[in-house]
Amino acid sequence: MGVGGMIEEVYVSVCSVCGHPLTQEMLAGETRKTDLINYVDRCIGSITLVFCAECLEKIGQYSNGGVAEAVKRLKQDREMD
Ligand SMILES: [Zn+2]
Repeated sequence: MGVGGMIEEVYVSVCSVCGHPLTQEMLAGETRKTDLINYVDRCIGSITLVFCAECLEKIGQYSNGGVAEAVKRLKQDREMD
């Protein structure tokens, strides 16, 4: 931080979904050490996920609608292409 009132943004983390750097104030949520079952590499490890507000909101929306809503979204996305 400079003397002339300039405040540099101090990033403390990275959103696990969008990859944007986050300041303490931008950090909207995180998981605590969680088991990750990796079906691709066929192994189990631990993972901590960090979310910005936008991604946290999206995850909330995606979790609520179920498969029917997801199929609807997929069709809408394809129509836009
Ligand atoms: Zn994000």
